[in-house]
Amino acid sequence: MSVIVLGSVNMDVVLSVNTLPQAGETIAASAQNLYPGGKGANQAIASARCGAPTAFFGAVGDDDYGAVLAKNLQDNGIDTAGLKVLAGRRTGQASIYVSAAGENSIVILAGANHDFVFDEDGGPVPVPSAPAVRLAQFEMPLAAIKAFFDAPGAASGTRILNPAPALPDGRFLFDLSDILIVNQTELATYAGRPDAASSPEASIALARGLLSRDDQWVVVTLGADGLVAVGAGQEIFVAGLDTEVVDTTGAGDCFCGALAARLSASEPLRDALAFANAAAALAVSRRGAGPSMPTFEEVVARQA
Ligand code: ATP
Repeated sequence: MSVIVLGSVNMDVVLSVNTLPQAGETIAASAQNLYPGGKGANQAIASARCGAPTAFFGAVGDDDYGAVLAKNLQDNGIDTAGLKVLAGRRTGQASIYVSAAGENSIVILAGANHDFVFDEDGGPVPVPSAPAVRLAQFEMPLAAIKAFFDAPGAASGTRILNPAPALPDGRFLFDLSDILIVNQTELATYAGRPDAASSPEASIALARGLLSRDDQWVVVTLGADGLVAVGAGQEIFVAGLDTEVVDTTGAGDCFCGALAARLSASEPLRDALAFANAAAALAVSRRGAGPSMPTFEEVVARQA
């Protein structure tokens, strides 16, 4: 099976500053760095590096960032036939200030990501000849995600929804997914329990409340504590791996992409979850999001 990702692609423009600026203040930055980002693109890169044939559906503008980001996806072996270049639109961008103390402040321009639509004749909604793993997050229009999960043949594959960032309006899409992946903050938001305890046991109880079908799974990522999953009358616990924490950016994206890749290779869910947990542990030990995604061989070596 292949993996098809519908998702965002952004350029992260990072300015290093001594302290974050106050309202009305002008300050100097000591460095600027550009990093490819966007949850969709990060997850597609993780999937491809973990060995799955991966196709990407999304949108960039007809500007320089869009061209760089498209090339970055292609350089990672991703099929970008579904990446639209929208005339006169800006590519999605995150402007990030990072202070010497490591605090940040972030402004996101959704840009072309939010202008993505599948064509009305249904043509570009991916209809692969064989069942596929579909993977989507919440940085895209909810109508596009619905079309993606509702497409002919979609239900014969596996539909993975990572409803991040948390958007309560997107709850209607949960029924259309086979596997939901949330972190603890998103779980608390969707469960309507922002003050809930975050132990694995408490997470399992809340996750159970998100299930809408007997054959559905909810996976809750627990940061350094690994993950829990509930579904099909079962519970799965996978402990986090000891790792040197260098940069947790993109850990959740790595987890989602790696899980999709292993499920597309028909690996049982329990084993695919353990693989994704090891992949994400590797990602936190490296700087950046896209660049930190490990290869299949690296994850296998980490699990040995
Ligand atoms: P982020 O927003 O930082 O990308 P997230 O909040 O979406 O991440 P987390 O639950 O923090 O998701 O982490 C996702 C997965 O990454 C975890 O389930 C675990 O497998 C791995 N992970 C994260 N932090 C650590 C850590 N400190 N040590 C080992 N594994 C980690």
